[in-house]
Amino acid sequence: MILLNPGPVTLSERVRKALLSSDLCHREEEFSKLQHTVREELLKIYDLDPEQWAAILITGSGTAAVEAMVTSLLPQKGRLLIIENGVYGERISKIASIYGIDHLKLSHGWVEEIDIYALEHRLDENADITHAAVVHHETTSGRLNNLGRIQDACRTRDVSLLVDTVSSFGAEDILFKDGGISGCAATANKCLHGVPGVSFVIARRDALPRGRARNLYLDLNMYCQQQDLGSPPFTPAVQTCYALAEALKELSDEGGWQKRQQHYAALIGMIRDGLRGMGIKPLLAEGESSVVLQSFCLPRKLSYHEFHDRLKRNGFVIYAGQGVFARSIFRISTMGAIQRDDMQRFLSVTREILAMSPQR
Ligand SMILES: *Cc1c(COP(=O)(O)O)cnc(C)c1O
Repeated sequence: MILLNPGPVTLSERVRKALLSSDLCHREEEFSKLQHTVREELLKIYDLDPEQWAAILITGSGTAAVEAMVTSLLPQKGRLLIIENGVYGERISKIASIYGIDHLKLSHGWVEEIDIYALEHRLDENADITHAAVVHHETTSGRLNNLGRIQDACRTRDVSLLVDTVSSFGAEDILFKDGGISGCAATANKCLHGVPGVSFVIARRDALPRGRARNLYLDLNMYCQQQDLGSPPFTPAVQTCYALAEALKELSDEGGWQKRQQHYAALIGMIRDGLRGMGIKPLLAEGESSVVLQSFCLPRKLSYHEFHDRLKRNGFVIYAGQGVFARSIFRISTMGAIQRDDMQRFLSVTREILAMSPQR
């Protein structure tokens, strides 16, 4: 089966085999070494200095890392501006509401670009905002938000930026060196090609507040201290860590995030051109989407379910739209061990399905 959904991903054989590594107690030095390697390799992807930055591992899906980032990096007296243009930005607002975090929202429609002037205006009007949160690649639509400009707006006003990079980390550029970012959250099983179960936050060490924690299991400060000492505070997903270590080696062997970005771009370009030839239009304009995922308008001939099920019978899993998009779009992601010939085959199968469907 080829998974064209945005994680969990189609695994490479070497990552799948890593899951069968020897049984291991997380209190043994072998685990400390594994944990150390994973943390170090995560920082190396974007060339981050371990003195300044920490990769902090959490057992859980991407949302656990986002929740840990928001609740741990925002000081008790902080005030958060959440920039929303999709499901995942709105999820950050839900997290802030549940924890009773003092927050404001800058909301946009799900196909809209983030309005930098509105952002600057909101920050200038509310000088007590200490932090802003945004999604880098909004998987709802496939839009790659303009993180660089958001960073500039925040940095020049001394506002710390928290970024959900769950569906971009490892495949899109993240300009850590430009400043403004104090943390980003991501997961093993998206662009890094690992298996679900481990997620992480890359945090500036000086951004970890020392005050009272908002929770126990998602307290990044505690995780960071204990992981620095070599030991995880709770039982980690050991096999998932083995797989992540192998996936990180594979990423580096293949030439790092830049090469992965090129590979994804080639795949999504094939899909975009191929589908356009069949009359299937992309949701966003050229150049607005990430290389990781694009949304396409469903062909009028077919419901999502019919289309999905026929593709699945042929070995491909596509992804539905969320919320208001549920009946109008489908999504194709390039993440995972997918090659050009897989995408060629996907296009021929799609062409056949469309040819066989009567006009409605
Ligand atoms: C996948 C995703 C998440 C987290 O989803 P989980 O199901 O918890 O792994 C968060 N943000 C974005 C942008 C995502 O694409």
